Amino acid sequence: MSTTPRQDALRNISSAPSASAPGFERFNLTELFGSRVFNDAVQRRRLRPDVYQALRRTIDRGEGLDPRIADAVSDAMKDWAVEHGATHFTHWFQPMTGLTAEKHDSFLSPVVEGGAIHAFTGKELIKGEPDASSFPSGGTRSTFEARGYTAWDPTSPAFLRVTPYGTTLCIPTAFCSWTGEALDTKTPLLRSCEALDRSARRLLALIDERPERIFVTLGPEQEYFLVDRELFQLRPDLLISGRSLFGAKPPKGQELEDHYFRTMPERVLNFMMDLEHELWQLGVPVKTRHNEVAPHQFELAPLFEHVSIATDHNMLTMELMQSTAERHGLACLLHEKPFAGVNGSGKHNNWSMADERGSNLLDPGHTPHENLRFILCLTAVIRAVDAHQDLLRVSIAHAANDHRLGANEAPPAILSIFLGSELEEVVEGLISGGQTKSRARSTVQLGVTTLPPIPRDTSDRNRTSPFAFTGNKFEFRAVGSSQTIAYPNIFLNTAVAESFDHLSDEIEKRSKGAADRRAVIQEVVRETLTRHQRILFSGDNYSREWEREAAKRGLLNAKNTPDALVLFATEANQALFEKYAVLSRRETTARSNIFFSAYVHRVAVEALTMVQMASTALIPAGIAYQKIVAESINAARAAAPKAELGEQEKLLVELSSTISRLRAALTILKDAHHQLEDKGEITAQAVHSRDLILPAMLELRGHGDRLEMLVDDALWPLPKYHELLFVH
Ligand code: ADP
Ligand code: MG
Repeated sequence: MSTTPRQDALRNISSAPSASAPGFERFNLTELFGSRVFNDAVQRRRLRPDVYQALRRTIDRGEGLDPRIADAVSDAMKDWAVEHGATHFTHWFQPMTGLTAEKHDSFLSPVVEGGAIHAFTGKELIKGEPDASSFPSGGTRSTFEARGYTAWDPTSPAFLRVTPYGTTLCIPTAFCSWTGEALDTKTPLLRSCEALDRSARRLLALIDERPERIFVTLGPEQEYFLVDRELFQLRPDLLISGRSLFGAKPPKGQELEDHYFRTMPERVLNFMMDLEHELWQLGVPVKTRHNEVAPHQFELAPLFEHVSIATDHNMLTMELMQSTAERHGLACLLHEKPFAGVNGSGKHNNWSMADERGSNLLDPGHTPHENLRFILCLTAVIRAVDAHQDLLRVSIAHAANDHRLGANEAPPAILSIFLGSELEEVVEGLISGGQTKSRARSTVQLGVTTLPPIPRDTSDRNRTSPFAFTGNKFEFRAVGSSQTIAYPNIFLNTAVAESFDHLSDEIEKRSKGAADRRAVIQEVVRETLTRHQRILFSGDNYSREWEREAAKRGLLNAKNTPDALVLFATEANQALFEKYAVLSRRETTARSNIFFSAYVHRVAVEALTMVQMASTALIPAGIAYQKIVAESINAARAAAPKAELGEQEKLLVELSSTISRLRAALTILKDAHHQLEDKGEITAQAVHSRDLILPAMLELRGHGDRLEMLVDDALWPLPKYHELLFVH
């Protein structure tokens, strides 16, 4: 009997060779780390002292880059890259697709005498013209000015991408239009860091602290799934949309929770080690790896870094996860919800702020003064999350995350903050100010008393919270696994900057003529916490009661992407981004358009993938089996007229009616997709996608999954859930 591709794939897994091991045991981690990066040590070694100093001033203090040093830096960078085997360089950037982009040029330059030399000028380092006119611009560019340029970001070090066939020097860059508009995610991220730095230092000066610079620190924990590559390739849905659009529930899911922190299968461990090895060389400080809750779900966590570098590194991590998986006969799924009924993946966005000496502003500290600084920063973040719930919600709104937010395992679409009982008590004490009888045991006199020790959270005490304080940082957990972390951090930084300024304004206003500034600060903190206390919630975020309670508190609950995205380009937000020079009005509008069209396109691609799968794989399989059953009934009746065939006839009826319903649902989905064109405005298309296309997809899936449970396993063309989730 001939076999199906699915059966072949399953057979091949057991004999799959793992990628040949390059003898990692010989490597020394500290020597390996950053060996493919033009980092500080390399810069110091290879640059003239004056050039090195000038470059450091740009990197550390944000001073404008001295154009006169560009040639010296580009020369050193090229020599270093060529010594490491590089033949090409590329400006590496992050357009508004949410992915990374690059266009390679070789170092080759012809000389008059014939032949060629390696050349790379300062001009080529600083500015590139990729003619990248096909990236989304959200309407900011018309075709006559369609070209954008890339500009070197000296704060993120250049690195080498090494493949078996060659090496490329990658230079992190920003991507802008000739009219000066940001066409990427990096530019607004860097701007938001500057805004936060300015506002934070203004507030700190009011408590007599004068750090040189405040940085945002970030550690993104990345969740992902691994599935066998041959099985993956037999699923058009996984291949095209990153998630399964069909698939009956397997007999065993994650109910037993027997995967979490379990020993990793060797193939997976090999993949992880290979990946870490690559990432370490690129200077990505990968620290932790473990199994996650769902079968075949894993997590990788780096040490924290400055947010823009952490963002570059997270993009690199996601790309390398996918290419490394390929080498090991695996496919890495970064989608937020690859499998229905199984936990989805997120990215815990661990966020804090630190000064140039590394002193963490969200660390409660040991002295009254450190506590004062901590409470001010804490108050600012609490206010920021409450006052800008809309923006934080927008920052995590996309088609894929809709399957996760509000679903049973993920943070809900309602923003709230979990502080932990110790800190909650402190906040209550601050609010009651000792004047009313408080449940809290003590009140805190800012700048006079020290806080009780706040335990570092190692055990995720409230896993249901979308925004949790974990000892010395906030963890924004509603961020999706596949998305760039740029937007959550751009919006959070801007919101916190605005909050810092609000506190500074209030303190400055009331300090005029006041004898004791500490009393003024205490009063401002008390008022702010009182007003924004509604955002604090320590209960179960997944419960129905919380949804009702949150509504009573007036908290925002935008349940899906179209509902969230309308909150973005409002007058208030346009003004906010403009004020902090993070996004101009046109840049905000452009991004709003892009977010909406990404949603519409994503849903449309999924709908068309389902149409194709149902028409060309599911229905044919159903019909083939129907024929077998029908012929078998006829044959049985002919052979034995008294044969009991009633139940088999029922099977035939069930089969035919399932196929027929599947066909009908298919037509409805096709129609819903056709109607998209008539909807005009992208916002109306998004609403149509949500209200008609997605429900039609769900209906179609229901019939497809019922058919899967009826048809002979040997005839079913798609790898099944249990094969994707349990075979390795
Ligand atoms: P915990 O023990 O509280 O779970 P971990 O040390 O495991 O914290 O860190 C979880 C993630 O948080 C890591 O990616 C880590 O780099 C990051 N992280 C820790 N401290 C900070 C900080 N100050 N700012 C940003 N991220 C941080
Ligand atoms: Mg965590």
